[in-house]
Amino acid sequence: MKRLIALGLAITIGFSTICAVVLHESRNRDQEQARRSAVNLVTTIGSEVARNFELYNLSLEAVVDGLNLQGVSQLTPQVRQMLLFDRAASAKDMGSIFVIDKQGTVILDSRTEAPRPESFAQSYFFKVHQGVADAGAYISTPWRQPDGEYVIAISRRVSDYNGNFIGVVAGTLRLRYFTKIFEKLDVDPRSSLILAREDGSIVTRNPFVADIIGMNVSKTPIFKRISESPEGSFEMTAGIDGVQRLYVYRRIGDLPLIVSYGQAVSAIYANWQREAIIIGILLLGLCATNVALIVFLARALRRSAKAEYDYAVMATTDALTGLCNRRRFDDSIELEWRRAQRRQLPMSLLLIDADRFKSFNDKFGHQAGDYALKALAECIDGASRRAEDLCVRFGGEEFAVLLPETSLEDAIVVANNIQARVASLRAMQNGRPDSTPTLSIGVACMVPFQGLEPRDLVKAADKALYKAKDTGRNRVVAVAPEHRTLKVVAA
Ligand code: GH3
Ligand code: MG
Ligand code: MG
Repeated sequence: MKRLIALGLAITIGFSTICAVVLHESRNRDQEQARRSAVNLVTTIGSEVARNFELYNLSLEAVVDGLNLQGVSQLTPQVRQMLLFDRAASAKDMGSIFVIDKQGTVILDSRTEAPRPESFAQSYFFKVHQGVADAGAYISTPWRQPDGEYVIAISRRVSDYNGNFIGVVAGTLRLRYFTKIFEKLDVDPRSSLILAREDGSIVTRNPFVADIIGMNVSKTPIFKRISESPEGSFEMTAGIDGVQRLYVYRRIGDLPLIVSYGQAVSAIYANWQREAIIIGILLLGLCATNVALIVFLARALRRSAKAEYDYAVMATTDALTGLCNRRRFDDSIELEWRRAQRRQLPMSLLLIDADRFKSFNDKFGHQAGDYALKALAECIDGASRRAEDLCVRFGGEEFAVLLPETSLEDAIVVANNIQARVASLRAMQNGRPDSTPTLSIGVACMVPFQGLEPRDLVKAADKALYKAKDTGRNRVVAVAPEHRTLKVVAA
């Protein structure tokens, strides 16, 4: 039974472990697949942006080179416009390129020969180039133009032959450029694509959220992780919308820009979750079936064990008196004999026979005989006290009591006790003609030693019984352990 439960438990635990391992593996696989496609995505975006920025930079460099040519200022505005800005249109979504003098005023514009004298003296990018000679292509934070268009500026310093600051060439790039790239990609609506400057200011985001354009997020845990290495991935909950995402990020070439793709974890594991629920339900079903099977088998086992026990009891019990039968006696005497032999202890046997039972039967009928046998069995059974004592209906009107570890004296006590019970029963019957018949009892005791067998004990008891019959019945005759002497103990 315990083994059955252990087996059921082992099967359930085994299956659960296998399912857990399979689910764990499949979750890891889904995560790895999502990570790999995110890496491909940020790499593609990075390459596209890097290529366009290179074109942009080349356009700015061409303007800087043109400005350093001798005699440019003497050219007609139309020719000068063509010379400086002929390569300016090659980059996508480029706004105008303009030249700012060292006071910060726009002096040339790629879109018009008569630019508005707008001042950028207070602009951060202007101040950067004014102060640093080698700032290279500087990318500004985004701002919103009066026409509502979000742009960033890319600018280069213009120096004279001695390296002195003489102005800035700057161009604008519409953020729409990035939006168009992002829109072309087939991404989950819960995911977020962010392009940020390496100082933590956000250039753009998809889905577009106007409020965070230009915002500095360098202090947020996500950006802190992102700035730890040029590329990588991690899972974290976004402060902006509370969605847990798998972030994959990468620096764009040599540019001070970072592209980061955050994919909602719920989207990554959506299929896995469905799979887990199905496997969970199947597992529960299996467990329930297992429990039902264990309960069913346990009941069946209990029933069959009880049936076996009942059968064993039946096979060793005498149906009329409820005492043990001859078969049980044969088994027990062998067993007890060996035990007594090992321990060298005495073992006693009473052989009991109802007196003149044939004539009782003949006089009062078989049914009354059976009734008398039952009454005698009760007297016999009630006289022995220990659990090891075995009361047996030997067959017909003969009985036996096997008394392990019992001396002859103690066995005689039991025999006398039986006689006393029969006597008191008969006294109660008050001399009725059909009073329960008396008993003759032969008692034998032996300490089993080499050469003796159980049947020697039976023979000795039988001899004593014969003597009891022979000397007048209704008595106990005992034979000493040495079975040399026979003595009449009680009449
Ligand atoms: P003794 O005192 O010498 O033992 O005489 P007895 O008549 O008891 O001995 P005998 O062996 O001649 O007779 C035994 C009788 O017991 C024979 C049979 O009718 C009766 N008997 C045996 N088994 C049963 C039984 O199961 N029920 C009944 N009612 N009688 C039985
Ligand atoms: Mg007999
Ligand atoms: Mg008899």
